Amino acid sequence: MLDRFNREINYLRISITDRCNLRCVYCMPEEGIKLIDHRSILSLEEITEFTKCAVKIGINKVRITGGEPLARKGAVNLVRMLAEIKEIKDLSMTTNAILLPKYARELKEAGLMRVNISLDTIDPDRYRAITRGGEITDVFNGITAAIEAGLFPIKINCVIKKSINEPDAVAVKKYCDANGLTARFIYEMDIEKGEFGIVHGGSGGDCENCNRLRLTSDGLLKPCLFSDLSFDVRKFGCEQALKLALEQKPKCGVGSTSNKFYNVGG
Ligand code: SAM
Ligand code: SF4
Repeated sequence: MLDRFNREINYLRISITDRCNLRCVYCMPEEGIKLIDHRSILSLEEITEFTKCAVKIGINKVRITGGEPLARKGAVNLVRMLAEIKEIKDLSMTTNAILLPKYARELKEAGLMRVNISLDTIDPDRYRAITRGGEITDVFNGITAAIEAGLFPIKINCVIKKSINEPDAVAVKKYCDANGLTARFIYEMDIEKGEFGIVHGGSGGDCENCNRLRLTSDGLLKPCLFSDLSFDVRKFGCEQALKLALEQKPKCGVGSTSNKFYNVGG
């Protein structure tokens, strides 16, 4: 469906948890995070019901994200439930890959088509520093598991500070080229200040062509990452929340004090 700026809105990102097994420096504070109460988290059935409603207004692309989506119990079941919605032509997940050795095959069998994996460096010490304790061999094992499971194409999300020529980014690109992976470079953003840039090698950061809506794990439908607008799907009901989000999706993001990467999902 078109929004009021004639943008075709066909892409839904669903954050299924605000929990994560890493603490990336640009995403989450090390401690003191106010996590969403378990009782507020949408059930797998509620998420599926909302998505069924969303495909009726033209959503045909769905990405599961988080927090770390594989840290939520039932993530594979959710994939199975969403994969049954025949209008969805592209069902993907963004993950840090730490748990992919355990779940890649099950995810593929459940109907997940592909994964985006976050990796900002191929240096073990730098990875440990950026993620505050992550082990890069877990990610490499996760990537291997995704390849073996056939979750193609596998895209690597690499956050950059200023340039795609930074040493970490150059090394990630080389690694991707050598392993049949697609690298996407994302400028580090500041949601509060509304600082964002266009994604190299992918879509995003381009307000004029934005096609997205976002659903948080506690049921807030957000028309823009860089806006505080949100519509509670439990309060308004799925149809009305979708209608309001489409009607009020801003022309361009300016900044948000309520959104965080780990609760909206990037
Ligand atoms: N945990 C999963 C992961 O890391 O892939 C999914 C959720 S994570 C919030 C989604 C994406 O947001 C990741 O690719 C991550 O690199 C990106 N991200 C987080 N904080 C960011 C920031 N400040 N600027 C740009 N990208 C960011
Ligand atoms: Fe976790 Fe992903 Fe945020 Fe890193 S970017 S802290 S892996 S949610």
